[in-house]
Amino acid sequence: MGRAFAYVILGGGVAAGYAALEFVRRRSDGAAGELCIISDETVAPYERPALSKGYLSPEGGARLPAFHTCAGANDQLLTNNWYREHGIELILGTKVISVDVRRKTLFTSAGETISYATLIVATGARALKLEEIGGNGSDAENVCYLRNLEDADKLIRVMRSCPGGDAVVIGGGYIGMECAAALVANNIKVTIVFPGKHCMENLFTPKIAEFYENYYASKGVTFIKGTVVSSLAISSGKVTTAILRDGRRLPADMVVVGIGARANTALFEGQLVMEKGGIKVSGQMRTSDASVYAVGDVAAFPVKLLGAEVRRLEHVDCARRTARHAVAAALDSSGATGDIDYLPFFYSRVFALSWKFYGDNTGKAVHFGDLDFSASSSSKPKFGALWVSAGRIAGAFLEGGSPEEYEAIAHAVRRGTAVPDVAVLARQGLAFIVQEGQSGAARSRSGGLCGCGNTPSYAWHATVGVAAAVSIAAFAYWYGWKAPYLAKRDF
Ligand SMILES: Cc1cc2nc3c(=O)[nH]c(=O)nc-3n(C[C@H](O)[C@H](O)[C@H](O)COP(=O)(O)OP(=O)(O)OC[C@H]3O[C@@H](n4cnc5c(N)ncnc54)[C@H](O)[C@@H]3O)c2cc1C
Repeated sequence: MGRAFAYVILGGGVAAGYAALEFVRRRSDGAAGELCIISDETVAPYERPALSKGYLSPEGGARLPAFHTCAGANDQLLTNNWYREHGIELILGTKVISVDVRRKTLFTSAGETISYATLIVATGARALKLEEIGGNGSDAENVCYLRNLEDADKLIRVMRSCPGGDAVVIGGGYIGMECAAALVANNIKVTIVFPGKHCMENLFTPKIAEFYENYYASKGVTFIKGTVVSSLAISSGKVTTAILRDGRRLPADMVVVGIGARANTALFEGQLVMEKGGIKVSGQMRTSDASVYAVGDVAAFPVKLLGAEVRRLEHVDCARRTARHAVAAALDSSGATGDIDYLPFFYSRVFALSWKFYGDNTGKAVHFGDLDFSASSSSKPKFGALWVSAGRIAGAFLEGGSPEEYEAIAHAVRRGTAVPDVAVLARQGLAFIVQEGQSGAARSRSGGLCGCGNTPSYAWHATVGVAAAVSIAAFAYWYGWKAPYLAKRDF
């Protein structure tokens, strides 16, 4: 049995949904029957970040269909009907088990052969298992991962089975920290264990991490740092105790594992060029095979802003933008689509806190705002860090900013705002960035160009502003309104 499509998207996550919408927009002349999406998940593409936020709220906040893509960008909600109405073949609950890039064919778990003229690989990443780092227990009834809806449903079931119980969270990164906040909201006592010196080690400075760790501690969370869970003691299919390398034993009614992710590249090993643990692509998201594009978590692409250094960014904004860019390039027969010009952007929302980060955390970190947490400190803290590299702003982190302030830091990173004197920046902090942004915009209005290409700075400013406002509005909608205890509306 076989079918053929002009375009096939392999994977049905965030990138697939945004790619589908872009495809329909660019083929307004009608493209029914040309595009097929194949996903091993049983539901249409959805906004994955909701799983660790609104979805886990005790009152059952975000539920499908409300967070199908592209709700996160305040755009159309792509339900199954939407795909049907636009003539897009959505093949769900079907795993692609092998791919022959030379013959342009995919083979599915249903025994079907699907051929394509153009393939967009959007297979994302998978959660790293304990067994892959020498541990055990992944199959236990009360051990949870969080990558997809099925995982989230298991996590909710397990949380509800042990109200007031003890959870051991393994890992102090994004998933560990966001799940810990959700567990607390669900009245579970949390101990987070990780080998590093502080949480979110890849992004946070020690000072920033200290604030969040103190904040979590004020919510009853215990941190055990500098060691690992060496094994899980299991009885009748359930973990009872987490045993640490240093011999300590932590009672556990449940375990949540957030030890990192691996890009789903296996289908293409030996067929496409790989880099940084993902599929290497050009600035147009094209792989080493001209008929194959890769987007989202699985793609390693050159980031212009970082001197075209190849990066693989496991963040939702990146999935959306790379997906749109790949579709633009794939549908552009003139070949005029340029290279993606991406400003790295990540965010997180936990408890009443909310932060955003733009750019690269390299160089000297200059902190600003009130980083000293105490139980009596403001319920709406505002602080951050600006990374200065070669005399320019390379990265910016801001907790509790206003839309205008987030826009200003994004702009500063994009422009690479000059910092002639770090001491002045340290004294003025965020005010330095806001002032620089305003004077940069004023210079642009009088005819000057910003330092980021040929686009007048105010035009870029406006674009970022609209994008930021849209994304803030969207996330406030289904994280803020629907789960006020996990994420606070900030505008
Ligand atoms: C719980 C959670 C919370 C997150 N929160 C944030 C956040 O707050 N901020 C942020 O910036 N980022 C966040 N992220 C990251 C963000 O969700 C990802 O970067 C984004 O989902 C990547 O999109 P993608 O389409 O590349 O991959 P995915 O969304 O993972 O989609 C990949 C799809 O491909 C399917 N697939 C894979 N292999 C096959 C196969 N062989 N056959 C068929 N189908 C296949 C998968 O099942 C899945 O449907 C979060 C991620 C998770 C898991």
